[in-house]
Amino acid sequence: MSGDTRHGVGVSPGTAVGPVVQVAPPVRPPADEPAPDDADAATSRVLESLAAVAVDLDARAAAADEHAKPILKATAMIARDKGLAKAAGKHIAAGLGPAHAIEAAVAEYAAQFEALGGYFAERVADLKDVGDRAIAHVLGVPSPGVPPLTGPSVIVAVDLAPAETATLDRAHVVGIVTAAGGRTSHTAILAAQMGIPAVVQVHGATDIPAGTTVAVDGDAGAVTLDPDMDLLEAQRVRRERRAAALAGVSGPGATSDGHAVALLANIGGVDDAVAAGAQDVEGVGLFRTEFLYLSANALPSVEEQADVYRKVLEPFGSRRVVVRTLDAGADKPLAFANLGEEENPALGRRGLRLCQAKPELIDSQLSALALAARETGADVRVMAPMVATAEEAAWFASRVRAAGLPKAGVMIEVPAAALRSRHVLAEVDFGSLGTNDLAQYTMAADRMEGELSDLLDPWQPAVLDVVAAACEGGAETGKPVGVCGESAGDPLLALVLAGLGVSSLSMAPKKVPAVRFALSLHSLDKCRELAALARDARSAADAREAVRAAAGEELTAIL
Ligand code: PEP
Ligand code: MG
Repeated sequence: MSGDTRHGVGVSPGTAVGPVVQVAPPVRPPADEPAPDDADAATSRVLESLAAVAVDLDARAAAADEHAKPILKATAMIARDKGLAKAAGKHIAAGLGPAHAIEAAVAEYAAQFEALGGYFAERVADLKDVGDRAIAHVLGVPSPGVPPLTGPSVIVAVDLAPAETATLDRAHVVGIVTAAGGRTSHTAILAAQMGIPAVVQVHGATDIPAGTTVAVDGDAGAVTLDPDMDLLEAQRVRRERRAAALAGVSGPGATSDGHAVALLANIGGVDDAVAAGAQDVEGVGLFRTEFLYLSANALPSVEEQADVYRKVLEPFGSRRVVVRTLDAGADKPLAFANLGEEENPALGRRGLRLCQAKPELIDSQLSALALAARETGADVRVMAPMVATAEEAAWFASRVRAAGLPKAGVMIEVPAAALRSRHVLAEVDFGSLGTNDLAQYTMAADRMEGELSDLLDPWQPAVLDVVAAACEGGAETGKPVGVCGESAGDPLLALVLAGLGVSSLSMAPKKVPAVRFALSLHSLDKCRELAALARDARSAADAREAVRAAAGEELTAIL
């Protein structure tokens, strides 16, 4: 019989089996670390630890891709810095134990780096990473972060930082399980993007011993320890039944009576673009450009950006590519794009607001995109994140047009923009509902707070009412409104969204076939009926159940 099954929220579909690799959290020096008896020996231990960290980082750099290599090499150089070792030595001479001495030396250095500003200030995170690794080494505990992987592995962590997820070794990670995280946290989004089955909000996940074989079910949101053959066989049968059903439909998305709903891909960079370009999608509905720069220390030049954009556009030929300008801040912090600490970053100067304060960010992006669009002849459309008012939409549209780009749009992810969509959309060519943030702001629930998953559920009838309001503005102005939040990839919710009037659905490419299948089985009138059922429900769970019960069994049998 299979061992125990832990339940969480499935955020990236599919199943996987593999041994658990625990991602170690950083350790702090123990409060009772004794003062060293022999200062020279303690200093040697610190030197050994820093040297070991440098060797480890160099080895990782050698095996890393082009994106991660320079970051890891630069971090290894910090570990070799003689001044850092000397500073730790001074603290040992003053009576601190080796772990506390490293911590104190790093704090001192970090303050100096911050005071120097510019490039140095941007290295503080790397410096702290070196310190955390050296402290772990000196204490004889595992280094923090994802350890080097040698075979198929299920990564288990409290949560993963966006930069950590983005640099995961795709060749070896077969599943992701986290104790925290939410359905629209960036761990979830990146996992779906990479097509890696993932379950978040799994209580006690970090207690699962490393090496335990687990079966991850990203559809059901379940993680089974020591799965038996029956469970693995049942998962195999379900995979095959689903694959056979989904293989029966292809091409542009449409309801059973031929109403078109474009099926588009969400991407985060060149690798995603190459993979999605080869798939049966009608283009890109959301290119999250900030994902390119999560570990960058400075804004790349226009030419460097154009080079990346060219590589992103090429795989799509004449298909549309909707590019979102930098959405930095809050859950997607960028080292070079911020305005300092804020009390409430999600409600602060993020997204377009940040670009209005630092127009060079958006202007260099638009110039680079215009250059890449000219050279490739691609159908590029640009949209802004976090737009709340018609004035902001107009400001953005004028900048897009000044850059020589033909189509400007806005993300509708602030309830104000949805409620006033007839005015906001009048300024631009299209709208795209970001239901992740729209749920966060409608329900006043932090999307990074996994414990609030129920409130953040896009099936919340209040969220659906706000989506409906945005669609009404779209119909009034004749401007198309799509969806590019995670809700677009839920086959049942996709029917509701089509019924509310959205004209495109953009999602992780792996999710497209099931959504295409769902649409092909239902007429537009049926979708409208399902939308009305969902909006009439009293709760998210009731809305989901009502739609599931009324949707065709041919669909629900494979979900
Ligand atoms: C959204 O908010 O729904 C969205 C698509 O943008 P992101 O998830 O990148 O904030
Ligand atoms: Mg958003």
